[in-house]
Amino acid sequence: MSPDPAAVLAGVAWPVIAGHSHREQLLSLLSQFAQTERLAPEQLLRQQLLQLSAVIDHARRTVPYYRDRFGGLPPGPVALQALPLLTRRDIQDAGHGLRSMAVPPQFGAKHENRTSGATGEPVTVLRTMLDGLLWQANTLRDHAWHGRDPALKLAAIRAVAPGTADPPHGVEAANWGPASAALGGTGPAALLTLDADVAVQADWIRRHAPGYLLTYPNNLAALLDHFGQRDERLPSLRAVLTVGETVSPALRATCHVVLGVGIEDVYSSQELGYIALQCPASGLYHVMAESVLVEVLDAAGKPCAPGETGRLVVSSLHNHATPLIRYELRDHATVGGPCACGRTLPTLARVAGRERNMVKLPDGSTHWPLVGFHRFRDIAPLRQYQLIQRSLEEIEVRLVCDRALRADEETRLATVIRDALGHPFVLRFMYFEGELPRPANGKFEEFVCAIGGDAPARSVISGRQTLS
Ligand SMILES: [Zn+2]
Repeated sequence: MSPDPAAVLAGVAWPVIAGHSHREQLLSLLSQFAQTERLAPEQLLRQQLLQLSAVIDHARRTVPYYRDRFGGLPPGPVALQALPLLTRRDIQDAGHGLRSMAVPPQFGAKHENRTSGATGEPVTVLRTMLDGLLWQANTLRDHAWHGRDPALKLAAIRAVAPGTADPPHGVEAANWGPASAALGGTGPAALLTLDADVAVQADWIRRHAPGYLLTYPNNLAALLDHFGQRDERLPSLRAVLTVGETVSPALRATCHVVLGVGIEDVYSSQELGYIALQCPASGLYHVMAESVLVEVLDAAGKPCAPGETGRLVVSSLHNHATPLIRYELRDHATVGGPCACGRTLPTLARVAGRERNMVKLPDGSTHWPLVGFHRFRDIAPLRQYQLIQRSLEEIEVRLVCDRALRADEETRLATVIRDALGHPFVLRFMYFEGELPRPANGKFEEFVCAIGGDAPARSVISGRQTLS
């Protein structure tokens, strides 16, 4: 049945956004997904390119950065691979020049998203209601694929703004979120900040007895240690949902052994929303092709074949506020083959993204240091950062900046860092040029605990110690 033309959102080629209400739009998208996730690959790509062309055209007309960069290209359709890549540094350099001066009003209000991604390079992008709608539809698709029981409780431990879900109680909500609520509601949800001590998190989980626990893989590893040491199970738990970091096969195995449940992972980013969902049938990651066009490129910039690993380059199909066209995330992925589930969405066999360590405090507690880092660029012209814990009292702060920081900027940065770490550490600021050194395995971590261990090689250009 074709949608009521009066209810179709103008300016979107694919998928069609139709409905008189938020609920109708979500239902329409879900019914289209049932078809689009089984399209022949070349047909799917054609639809993606149709929508991306509209975004590229919009970007050339209304975004200063793209007007300059794509200005020399002939009018009309462009070959995707002829377009230059967009790096995190480009986003930092472009600033507001990457924002559209004329976002179609029907795409809804804009809001800012800030993230440091996998490389400690903070960027800010604007998003709209339209790409938020695709995000929500993919959330519902994730629940549907994994057959989750919406009546159960969802407990989430994640990075949130200070003061919004503080330990020991966190906050509670009547439902899982706006997408699920729009379709008729779910069981309750509870949220706790990620920087809560692991023992406090475990108490909180026991109290809530959730059906589903959502958190980051490294935090899950610490919780599995905690429950495993006590030989404790969580009888209410059906599955663990993970976001934000790479899930290792070892973590999946440990989760089965300790808690008796599996991990259902998603690959997403703050700037792009859902990029890929783990398939319940095969474990491969299916690309959310209705909202992003994903390329995996080799060192020469050529597309990788199944089994090959390369750089992930993603184009957002529905962000007209800060168009992200051929955006290089700095994550790596291995291209997957066809999936046994029958869905034809492209697959990734493995994604290697960000990694984090825990911070150790002198009182013996450990937690994830995370909240606050996104504020760094409000304080100083910072390009990249990395924190390395050298002892129970000392943190090395590695920075790449446009210029040497003033003393007052270092002081304000120090306040944010100490708040995020939860302890008045002695901070040793070190300045680097270009890019921060990567360890031999290439895996950059924004926070490294190097107590009694080693850390990336020092090739510092200047350093000074601030007062604690
Ligand atoms: Zn599949």
